[in-house]
Amino acid sequence: MVSGTSSLEYLSVRQEDKLVLECAAREYLRRLSVIWTSPLSDYNRVVASNQFVLPVLGYIMWTKQWPVMELKQIDREARKIVAESGGRHPCSSNALLYMTRSRGGRGLRSVDMEYKATKIKGAVRLHYQSVRLVMKIVHWEWCGSLKSKRQGWGVEWKNCPSHTIAGLVELYEQLLPTRVYTSQKTHTSGEGDVRCRLCGKAPESVAHILSGCSALAQSKYLSRHDAALKVLFYELLYDKGFIDEIPPWYSPDKPKPVYESENVKAYWDVPIFADQQEVRCIRVDARIVNHICKRVVTLEVSCPWVNNRTRKDEEKTLKYGPLRWELRQQFPDYEVKQYNIIMDALVGWSRELDVMLRELAGGRSTDVLRKMQRAVLSGTLNIARTFKVAV
Ligand SMILES: [Zn+2]
Repeated sequence: MVSGTSSLEYLSVRQEDKLVLECAAREYLRRLSVIWTSPLSDYNRVVASNQFVLPVLGYIMWTKQWPVMELKQIDREARKIVAESGGRHPCSSNALLYMTRSRGGRGLRSVDMEYKATKIKGAVRLHYQSVRLVMKIVHWEWCGSLKSKRQGWGVEWKNCPSHTIAGLVELYEQLLPTRVYTSQKTHTSGEGDVRCRLCGKAPESVAHILSGCSALAQSKYLSRHDAALKVLFYELLYDKGFIDEIPPWYSPDKPKPVYESENVKAYWDVPIFADQQEVRCIRVDARIVNHICKRVVTLEVSCPWVNNRTRKDEEKTLKYGPLRWELRQQFPDYEVKQYNIIMDALVGWSRELDVMLRELAGGRSTDVLRKMQRAVLSGTLNIARTFKVAV
């Protein structure tokens, strides 16, 4: 008898918990869709979701017993809302969505995780920090490749719109519907022809589309390249007193071909007229001749695919060897230095670039790097969009 009452009581408690969960979940999803259809930036959408939406469920978690399966279902619906608002690719990895931004994820908190964390905290009185530590270890293994140096965009670019971040994550995860992807991963097309639909020369992979396709080289890659170089070039022009104001990284205007003062000359994409016949590659992206400190600086920018960075650097140095020689002839006692600015198509960069930018832009180097990354990122996303529309 006694046991019968307690199990009935237990049942009714469970029933009540279930009702509470249903109501709270409805409100949770309603608020979530308000936030993800609002004009907030990606960072603010995530913060709002964690701080104003999750507590709808979070506050009552302490006293309720909820089936984990139902919480996972709420998370599934939440991800659907985010995907429908363009906040993520529907096939994007869930772990990445819930990983902290400092680790290269999006930083959204899931109901499931929150529930488990609450229960652990309540039961064992573990400090929340240690829960996070457990999660960090769980995520560690597979995010290694993504994590390296690609954390900046999620943390520092706080007014970045969701579709930009979602687009970038989509590229990291290589979800672009290329022929290689559809034939080998989703198997939605046959195993037949995987050649690029734009140039017909190479397998149509994400790497090929974003940095190896000859059909895009003269238009799309060039404008991405110019956008990145422009950021640095304007900084140097400002530094030398040629301009009073640095245009924003997204500004459409182009530098003039030549800037000239008594002591300094700066060239944007102007050929060098060589006396020597052998000097064929006479076009260098930008150069600055400083007559006071007797220095010639040449700048070359490229945005190769992620694993081609070192090769690109060697290529550029070799290609412009004769040009540096020519410059040394024209400016005999000047120091000639070439900077190969290499930032891969997914905005990864090397330590060497940090050093170069410090030499060129001094204390503003971090800011210059961030702006260049945004320029390259916008270019890459534009290419991905163009590709999706074209095929
Ligand atoms: Zn191609």
